[in-house]
Amino acid sequence: MTTTVTGTTRQLVTAIPGPKSQAMHERRKLSVSAGLTNGFPVYIDHAEGSILVDIDGNRLLDLGSGIAVVSVGHNNSAVVKAVQQQVADFTHTCFMVTPYEEYIEVCEELNRLTPGTHAKTTALFNSGAEAVENAVKIARLATGRPAIVVVDHAYHGRTNLTMALTAKNMPYKDRFGPFAPEVYRVATSYPFRDGLSGPEAAAAAIREIESSVGAHNVAAILIEPIQGEGGFIVPAEGFLPALSAWTTANGALFIADEIQTGFCRTGEWFACDHEGVIPDIVTTAKGLAAGMPLAGVTGRAEVMNAVHEGGLGGTYGGNPVAAAAALATIATMRELDLIGRAREIEAKVLPVLRALQQRFDIIGDVRGRGAMLAFELVMPGTTTANAAAAKAIVSYCNAQGVVALSAGTYGNVIRLLPALTITDAQLDDGLSVLTDALASLA
Ligand SMILES: *Cc1c(COP(=O)(O)O)cnc(C)c1O
Repeated sequence: MTTTVTGTTRQLVTAIPGPKSQAMHERRKLSVSAGLTNGFPVYIDHAEGSILVDIDGNRLLDLGSGIAVVSVGHNNSAVVKAVQQQVADFTHTCFMVTPYEEYIEVCEELNRLTPGTHAKTTALFNSGAEAVENAVKIARLATGRPAIVVVDHAYHGRTNLTMALTAKNMPYKDRFGPFAPEVYRVATSYPFRDGLSGPEAAAAAIREIESSVGAHNVAAILIEPIQGEGGFIVPAEGFLPALSAWTTANGALFIADEIQTGFCRTGEWFACDHEGVIPDIVTTAKGLAAGMPLAGVTGRAEVMNAVHEGGLGGTYGGNPVAAAAALATIATMRELDLIGRAREIEAKVLPVLRALQQRFDIIGDVRGRGAMLAFELVMPGTTTANAAAAKAIVSYCNAQGVVALSAGTYGNVIRLLPALTITDAQLDDGLSVLTDALASLA
């Protein structure tokens, strides 16, 4: 509708949600499957940077970035320009029919940026789940083995195979089965809850794999280097390197699902970089293309190229418009040093969250890296999950015009995923609303 300049500050002109959003939501109920819900049913008209403008004219502060997608900010001018240019050039040919350079350029970038300097090749897809499915296909073919090992609290998507890989039943899996076979789940490293060192947690996981699955059956260990939907769980130091070393020693592959953690989010290009872990295969999506649907599977050339001709593909994968958006997104990340900015966000926000933990006894743990930060809510003095508090905090923030997200197997984690281009003033504003939300519960 409107295209006025949005301004950079949060500003409410109606109650939230406003009357137009409420009316739209009634209309939605008649036409959209009830299986889809909206965390925060305000309807968006346009956006800029970290501000969303709804159809009632409210300016909302976005601390979720569409779930870690628009890391370069909404309507980033370089991305908008690249998309407009590509739409004018051509929108689709199908890469499997008549190819184009943009697809190759994205693969080159992914091969360059993902951990390790070994020879790599890449295939592009439309969604994170599709990338994970293909990573599993490739790993099974390349190793000739069936078993995929995943961990507790994992989230890998909502297609049939990725539901099997995902840990949490409600809402993702309940009554949607039967699920794909040859998926085995072991305990992860969850320092707040298991009290184990990284090597101890890895030894326990490996014991379980060797006794329950058998090393020679394992095609791959698939793991998020920092768990996203599972609650921003940062494994203890040494956990990921130990699992990675075990796969190498046992002829299996290490697949890092960097769909949420990738592309500067954690203060490195990829979360594996923090511990020098070099995966055999990396899956990417979310932050890669600033909201255009694009996902990648990047891996060792000998693994990726083991697939027979025609074995990988899809009608839309690596669509030229999405590819152009990815190239502009990556260029923007370099130009604005968004790795550095993610580290600045961590340096600014983590101490504030730690101070809140001192002040409010419902905060049991504060954790995260870069601009992927969270706190876990508990019943005071225990580790018992307090999902009601998380729900109340999200509601409070929403009513104040702040998009805040929860996460976690127990629904008791508040996670912050701001655009990496968020200003300090916007961060301060968001943190003050979060503080008020916590105070309102005390
Ligand atoms: C979001 C996500 C997925 C699934 O991506 P979709 O694009 O929603 O299919 C897979 N893995 C991780 C770690 C994710 O965060």
